[in-house]
Order: sequence, then C-alpha cells, then structure tokens
Amino acid sequence: MTDGPAPTSSRSLLEDLRHPRPCVSFEFFPPKDDAGEEVLWRTIADLEPLQPTFVSVTYGAGGTSQERTVRVTSRIAEQSRICAIGHLTLVGQSRAEIEQVLKQYASAGIHHVLALRGDPKGGPREPWEPHPGGMDHAIELVELARELGDFSIGVAAFPEGHPDAGGRDPDADVLVAKHRAGAEFAITQFFFRVQDYVDLVERTRARGSDLPIVPGIMPILNFGQVARMAELSGAEIPREVLDVIEPVADDKDAVRTRGIELATQLCRDLLAAGAPGLHFITLNRSKATREIFQTLRSEGLV
Ligand code: FAD
Repeated sequence: MTDGPAPTSSRSLLEDLRHPRPCVSFEFFPPKDDAGEEVLWRTIADLEPLQPTFVSVTYGAGGTSQERTVRVTSRIAEQSRICAIGHLTLVGQSRAEIEQVLKQYASAGIHHVLALRGDPKGGPREPWEPHPGGMDHAIELVELARELGDFSIGVAAFPEGHPDAGGRDPDADVLVAKHRAGAEFAITQFFFRVQDYVDLVERTRARGSDLPIVPGIMPILNFGQVARMAELSGAEIPREVLDVIEPVADDKDAVRTRGIELATQLCRDLLAAGAPGLHFITLNRSKATREIFQTLRSEGLV
C-alpha cells in the first residue's frame, strides 16, 4: 500500500458516483486468522493499482467479527490511498454500542459507512429479532449516523426485492425512505439479470429519488459456493445462467471461465443501462476481478 491522499479526497464519493466515468469498487470480508489477513493485504495491494473509487469491508454475519471489521477498515484508511467504507449492522448490539462503533470509525478517519440491518444470528431465513436495546431497521442507523454527523452514508438495495419486503414496490419504498433519511448512495445485493437492476432504478426514480445505486457483482467462480450464498440471501440464479454453468459443473476451470464471461457481460449491460459503477464482491481474491476489469478497460468501459 502507498501513502498519499485518497483518490476521492478532492471530490466527495457522491460526486464520484455522479461523474460520467463509472466507479469501480471492491468488497472484502474481515479475515478470520493471520493467514487470511495476509491474503487480504496481498489482494488489496493487487487491486490498488486499479484505482478503485472505494473499497468496503463487511461486518460479520450474525453480528460477529465487528472488531476485525473496524480494525481492517481502519488499516486500509490509514495505509492506502483508497477510500474505505465500513459496513455496520444492528445485529446483537444496543444503540449505545452501535454509536460507539460509529465513533471508532470516525476517529480512524472513516467517514463513509454502509448502514445495514444485518441478518439474524441464525441466518437470513430466521425471523428478525432486534436487540432489546437496539434498533429495528437500517433506516434508524441512517438517522443515527446523520445525527452524529460527518458521515456519508450508503445503504443496501435489492434488485430482486428484499425477501421479507412483501414485493418489489414496498422494497423500493424502503429504499427511497432511506434516501430521504440521509443515505447518499446504495449498493445492491448480487444478482444476475440486468433487467432486475433496471427495474429497481426505475421504481426508485418513479418515487422521485435520484439515489445513485451501484450494482453488486459476484462472478461465479465456484458454483457450489455461489449457489449456497444465493440460497442464503434469497437471490435467484436464473435459468439462463444455470444453462451456461450446469453443463460444465464438474469442470472447475470451465465453470470459472464461463462465470467470468457471464459477469463481464453483466457489467457491460449494466454500464450500458447507466449504472454509476460496479461493486465487485471479491471474497478477498483479486484475480477474477482483475480479469474482468482488464477486459472492460480494454473496451474503454471503465
Ligand atoms: P432494512 O432496510 O432494515 O430492511 C430489512 C427488511 O425490513 C426489508 O424486508 C425491508 O423491506 C423491511 N423494512 C425496512 N424498513 C422498514 C420499516 N420502516 N417498516 C417495515 N419494514 C421495513 N449483512 C451483514 O451482516 N454484514 C454486512 O456487512 C452486510 N453487507 C451487505 C452489503 C450489501 C451491499 C447488501 C445488499 C447486503 C449486506 N448485508 C450484510 C446483508 C443485509 O444486512 C441483509 O440483506 C438484511 O436482511 C437487510 O438489510 P437492510 O439494511 O436492507 O435492512
């Protein structure tokens, strides 16, 4: 990692997201041990030359690993030129504890947060129970971060609708309410159909909101892993994607090649549809993301 000002230091992240040149960003998760941490720092070093607009670090599912998330995000902010976004969820924490994490982020120079509800400790399919002294919905975290001041706040968005939203229209209502409460940008759950993203943007615009919505991209590199993540998050792997992957499901290299081709095409289609950027869920590895990026760069798209 190198010293120097973050690429976004002269412009706000919001300005970057509204700039005609698409943003590229990367998502990491907090590593579980030293070996995982080494892999992460290597990945960040490999991806830094691509000059991402920002990177983000997830907040442990079920409310675990908060300390590692804050530490890793702080280290990125301190030691790299990259704008670092800290994820934060409501799971298993009182309002006072959540406030404390926001203050830790601010004192580490992290002024961008992704305000999330999180999923129940037992997994996304379990019913949501707020912490007794905590908050119920992400919008309350948006409001809290606004109150504390000095944060640019992002929120989650769901091209297929959040599984508990009761449909895509109420889902879009929630997203727009989060914008009105002070969110400045949204990042989506991963998905595979460009039309789902376009529909979400249209629903949001129809409600009078111009919130920038950055699509989350997860290339299929290991079919079993993506299928599990999709099952957990309620995301659908469409038949047209299965038709490409299933015939080679037993051949790891072929799955990877086809997964990268599918993701690259999705990125092209999203940029053609006006997406303000591409947020790659890297799973802490750089190679596939770099391959997709290089192809898009060679086509003049990023
Ligand atoms: P909310 O906005 O609170 O929505 C949750 C549900 O409640 C939705 O069904 C919504 O429609 C409904 N709802 C919201 N507000 C109201 C209201 N006022 N009245 C009635 N219903 C309402 N999880 C992690 O644990 N750690 C992470 O780091 C993480 N990062 C993520 C990053 C991205 C980009 C995305 C898309 C998701 C991420 N998640 C993460 C998962 C996320 O926490 C879950 O999908 C969670 O179920 C929903 O979070 P939310 O912030 O959208 O919640």
